[in-house]
Amino acid sequence: MDAWDAVVIGAGPAGANAARRLADGGASTLLLEQQRLPRYKACGGGVPARTLQLLGDLDISAVSEGHVDTIDVSRFGQHQFRKTSDRLLAWMVMRDRFDQFLTERAAASGAQVRDATAVQSIAPAESCYEIETPTGIVRARHVVAADGATGPTARWLQIPSAKTRSAAYEVEVAAPPRALDHWRRTANVDIGYRPWGYGWVFPKAGALSIGVVTSPRHGRGIRKHTDRYLSRLGLAEASVLNVRGHPIRYRRSTNEPVAAERALLLGDAAGLADEFTAEGIAYAVHSANLAAAAVLADDRPAESYTAMVDGEIQPELNAARTVSRLYYWCVTKWPWLALRTSKHVNYLWRAFFRVMRGESTYLAELTRWIGPRFAGRLGATVDELGNERDRRWTF
Ligand SMILES: Cc1cc2nc3c(=O)[nH]c(=O)nc-3n(C[C@H](O)[C@H](O)[C@H](O)COP(=O)(O)OP(=O)(O)OC[C@H]3O[C@@H](n4cnc5c(N)ncnc54)[C@H](O)[C@@H]3O)c2cc1C
Repeated sequence: MDAWDAVVIGAGPAGANAARRLADGGASTLLLEQQRLPRYKACGGGVPARTLQLLGDLDISAVSEGHVDTIDVSRFGQHQFRKTSDRLLAWMVMRDRFDQFLTERAAASGAQVRDATAVQSIAPAESCYEIETPTGIVRARHVVAADGATGPTARWLQIPSAKTRSAAYEVEVAAPPRALDHWRRTANVDIGYRPWGYGWVFPKAGALSIGVVTSPRHGRGIRKHTDRYLSRLGLAEASVLNVRGHPIRYRRSTNEPVAAERALLLGDAAGLADEFTAEGIAYAVHSANLAAAAVLADDRPAESYTAMVDGEIQPELNAARTVSRLYYWCVTKWPWLALRTSKHVNYLWRAFFRVMRGESTYLAELTRWIGPRFAGRLGATVDELGNERDRRWTF
């Protein structure tokens, strides 16, 4: 029987990076991916600059589709203003190539990669797990579950998964050269969606990624929102390369488990995405680093991994949620005031840019803005208001 120190399930940014880190640390590592690689993943492909530090300054330029340093804000497609960061804000990638690149790095570090191999079940055995695949049972001392927002591993391991979700829908279009020029180094953020959410345009080398993220209750209308958005952008007739919807899951508290015994949940499988921007790639990579460190240091890593996620990632997700709720509350109640404030208060943009570039965090910015005591209280109050809102609007 195949036997490994660690079996990693899912070759997205979380799984591929975890496999690389584990193999680099000397663990015999098998990475299993259900799809044939390279595979498409519904995603804007915006990789915040801070992700590069988390990847150990891996050179991703071979799979870069360009950079963004400017945010163009519109409301229902009507241009409002632009803000520019004085340094690179985000890399733009196509997820099939980016994830394949990370998987190749894992293989180069010594991990064995098997694509087109779906895990079919997992059963705990004595001091290990037995993992069923179409080609037989694989045995692993540790399971590193990076199977995304809809993956089955958490359920098989009876780890209750993060419940809060949003719906996101993405269309990749081969845009005419004029549109590609217009959005060069610039991402559009389209606001005004109710009860919350936004539309985006992310520029790639020969295409644009366009999409909408909103509450799951409004998931059914998300296609219509996206079609209208495409029309307002003048791209209704552009040829569509890919189109897909997918949920994003959010862990809201340290009460939501991310591990059990020798099995760890990473990235979207653990709900590690932020509720302000809905981005999850940086958190996927970060949690992979923590999981690999925990497995390499500890035979029963559930406790140490959970402590690291709770200490390093969860405070940031909580702060992002506070920012998100404040923002959507203002935008819903006083849209014009919110728009004027965001247009004229450059401090807010500088803070956001610092967070994206990894020079600061949401928590540090909130604390700097209103002080540590008030930041905590604000978080709790906003959470209460937000939970009430969620009951009415979202879940
Ligand atoms: C429309 C949309 C746009 C987004 N845009 C952005 C963005 O611009 N920037 C950003 O940072 N984040 C964005 N996100 C979030 C981001 O895509 C995720 O946070 C990120 O992909 C999480 O990575 P992951 O490795 O945890 O999971 P995934 O990338 O989902 O990878 C999980 C992998 O597990 C595999 N798998 C599942 N089940 C099994 C099984 N049984 N056996 C084997 N393999 C299995 C899947 O095939 C998949 O390849 C977006 C999300 C959506 C839905």
